[in-house]
Amino acid sequence: MAGASDGRREASSQRRLGIWVLGDQLHAGQAALASSGPGDCRVLLLQSLDQAARRRCHRQKLVLVWSAMRHFAAELRAAGWVVDAVSAESYGRGLRRWIEAHGVQELRLMEPADRGFRSLVMGLLEPIPNPPELVWVPSNAFLWSREAFAGWAGRHRQLRMESFYRDGRRRFGVLMEGEGAAATPMGGRWNFDKENRRPPRKGLAPPPPLRWTPDAITAEVIEHVASLPDLPGSVDGFGWPVTRAQALEALEHFIATRLADFGTYQDAMVRGQPTMWHALLSSSLNLGLLQPLEVIRRLEQRGLEDDVPLNALEGVIRQILGWREYTHGLHHWFGEDYGRSNALDAHRPLPDWLEALGGSGMACMDTVLGEIRDSAYAHHIQRLMILGNYGLLAGLDPQAFTGWFRRLFIDSADWVMETNVIGMALHADGGRLASKPYAASGSYVNRMSDYCRQCRFKPKQRSGEEACPFTSLYWDFLARHRDRFGAHPRMALVYKQLEKIPAGELEATRAAAARHLQGTGAS
Ligand code: SF4
Repeated sequence: MAGASDGRREASSQRRLGIWVLGDQLHAGQAALASSGPGDCRVLLLQSLDQAARRRCHRQKLVLVWSAMRHFAAELRAAGWVVDAVSAESYGRGLRRWIEAHGVQELRLMEPADRGFRSLVMGLLEPIPNPPELVWVPSNAFLWSREAFAGWAGRHRQLRMESFYRDGRRRFGVLMEGEGAAATPMGGRWNFDKENRRPPRKGLAPPPPLRWTPDAITAEVIEHVASLPDLPGSVDGFGWPVTRAQALEALEHFIATRLADFGTYQDAMVRGQPTMWHALLSSSLNLGLLQPLEVIRRLEQRGLEDDVPLNALEGVIRQILGWREYTHGLHHWFGEDYGRSNALDAHRPLPDWLEALGGSGMACMDTVLGEIRDSAYAHHIQRLMILGNYGLLAGLDPQAFTGWFRRLFIDSADWVMETNVIGMALHADGGRLASKPYAASGSYVNRMSDYCRQCRFKPKQRSGEEACPFTSLYWDFLARHRDRFGAHPRMALVYKQLEKIPAGELEATRAAAARHLQGTGAS
């Protein structure tokens, strides 16, 4: 087996050094590149075709990653690095050919963000005779190293995001007043969530986000991806940032046009407005085009200079300093078993309309799926309260649903989707991440969106032909899991409401839920 070691190494003049930069590590300051210099090594950027075919990723996700890798290779070359941008049938074959062609004796990588990739790399080296020594360089892609996160997690009995986020604010001095232990959160509160839940009103017109017309590199990738058979999503209208310069422009454009109103309608969903005031920075952050601390500092600086309302500024910083770091930290802290969690014993296969990205017959669902088909994007409330909520209520298989999210979203990665889907959306981890399930009926969707107006179902109706599937499934879910959640203090109110439903009406509601599931082919 290939030798493997950790830590930063000085490049040896005797050994031929190769640095493999992964597709989500596209930053010139990433730790493996920073451990060497342009004259001391070769750099590999490797595109695996079988990985794309096997995973069946959304076409726009493939275009984004492959185009960003090619642009990054060109940027490194311009800075004097020797770069091999390789497209191969598989990681194994491409890596082996590159190692043998260049006599690589030390293979250096920055630690991957996804837990499983480390063992995958070690496995790839196994069949190679005289493999290079494998050296892992600690990642600088996140604010919390694995050790720092483990230190935090080890000190807490309950690993709640709010507590982690507050420690992050103190640790990095973000939106704080005063110094040291006496520092307090700006505005006297840590959290302005209550001000960020306004339902949509008529005539909302969020400024459109920046989109980029594909250059020659991206156009070539689009042509290639469009020719690949049997992949979900459309490449038409691809406009995501694929370089650091574009990502920085996207950040400035967000600050100038949408930051001030980001908070107020953060949870609102409107037909024809798929991005609302959301930042759309996650794909750039997750590829490494943007670094989390530079984004946070810039948001804080410009936000305070421009008197941006604190509910907006705190809301967007919470997503990066809080959620992003927290989900990555937990992905590694919980370990492999977490991904297999299924605390609610949910085994329903995914309905065909999820894979087809449309055809559910529910206006809310089909709107969101259509937006994903066109852009590989849905904002966080669409993900949590339409897609995730449905998966929770219908009892969809957590592993299959996590895989679906992993394949379909522009900003996806294993570390992103595992905790967000298994933990946050489906409660399949039994509450290790969120204290109670995020279950909601059609009334919530009706309040927070304009979807129901166009739907053949009625959001308040829980039984009968016009019963809203979210509503009948919601009461069915509560009844099904009464033993588990009936005594939960934060669910006392909803269980009181369940008790008030006459037995015959509950039976009809549960029958409507069963009919819906049979109709989806997922019963
Ligand atoms: Fe969705 Fe129900 Fe509203 Fe239709 S009525 S859009 S299914 S929540």
